[in-house]
Amino acid sequence: MNSLKAAIALFVMILLSCSENENVNDGSSDFVYVERTPITDTVFSVEADVETDAVEASSGSDAADDPAFWLHPDNPSLSIIYGSNKKGGIAAYNLEGEEIAYAEAGRINNVDVAYNLKLKDRVIDVCGGTNRTNNTLDIFEINPETGELMFVLQNQVVSKVNEVYGFCFYHSPHSNKNYAFLCGKDGVIEQYEIIEGNDRLDLSLVNSFDIGTQPEGLAADHKHGRLYIGEENKCIWVVNAEPDDNNPFKLELSSESDNENIDYDIEGLTIYYTSGDHGFLIASSQGNSTFAVYDRFYNKYIGSFEIIDGSIDGNTGTDGIDVINMNLGAEFPTGIFIAQDDRNIDNGKTEPQNFKFVSWEKISNLFEPPLMTDPKFNIRSFFK
Ligand code: CA
Ligand code: CA
Ligand code: CA
Ligand code: CA
Ligand code: CA
Ligand code: CA
Repeated sequence: MNSLKAAIALFVMILLSCSENENVNDGSSDFVYVERTPITDTVFSVEADVETDAVEASSGSDAADDPAFWLHPDNPSLSIIYGSNKKGGIAAYNLEGEEIAYAEAGRINNVDVAYNLKLKDRVIDVCGGTNRTNNTLDIFEINPETGELMFVLQNQVVSKVNEVYGFCFYHSPHSNKNYAFLCGKDGVIEQYEIIEGNDRLDLSLVNSFDIGTQPEGLAADHKHGRLYIGEENKCIWVVNAEPDDNNPFKLELSSESDNENIDYDIEGLTIYYTSGDHGFLIASSQGNSTFAVYDRFYNKYIGSFEIIDGSIDGNTGTDGIDVINMNLGAEFPTGIFIAQDDRNIDNGKTEPQNFKFVSWEKISNLFEPPLMTDPKFNIRSFFK
């Protein structure tokens, strides 16, 4: 793999985009790109606003792993947060954190959501996940009324990687095709094209490549056509998410040796979108229980925050994370950040794991000037 070639290619891509986007304030109300000096000597603190019901598991066992936010088409306050339970399925929570449905789907590790997939006479939203019961990639249709999940693939697709692990969807802005990425503990990334048009969806393996050691967190940018890969003990890579060129390019200040705020493992990755080119890439730095924030476009490190104990216990050892920019009502006016918590304490007692929700408004205001927000931009608009 020629990483110099990749580095030059990405650099040229960024230069070209810069000249196209000299004025990065594209008219939407609340955001202007701000050149910031990376904050490496401080970690900001915030408290959780909501915690979910605990997952079905014995206390103290490692069970909850990765969340995926699903935006309701008409009423954002009716949106659902899916959370994987590595012991046997996927739970669905409302914005109050109450479990409203549970799919006994097997040992699901990472989950993600995609919108507007076409079947014969219908358009559906889906939740997908890596399933370690049979080493498969599974996709489920979302019932928008109840949050229930129904298996929607022609067949379960068995992966060739050694233990399916990380997962995300990608909608190509170039071809309008939908893809699913998964990674194995062996460092292999597989890319599947999602075949629409029949009664059920199908998957076709279109690419695979090897990054070396164990990755988990995957996140795809549906506008910039990039895939971010968290190599747990190394750094965050960015690659072209189209199936023809996946040479990796390392993010600035994304490894322990580059940045003292990063402590391995690098775990969950997620993207805060705006209607412009910017927004944020966020990474779970599991070793020091913090979250690192990068500019979405330039991939430059901005700073880190942690979720500390308040009326709800704080986050430690976080695996998966997710974030959404949309106004979800008074409590979450510029979206929410969702993070798995390794050790869920209730009334001084350790309970099975759960997920914590934090208002993005609070995270945004930790920084000076505040991180940009775009509560009107609808992620569904990517999925054409
Ligand atoms: Ca864990
Ligand atoms: Ca996820
Ligand atoms: Ca991991
Ligand atoms: Ca994990
Ligand atoms: Ca906790
Ligand atoms: Ca708790």
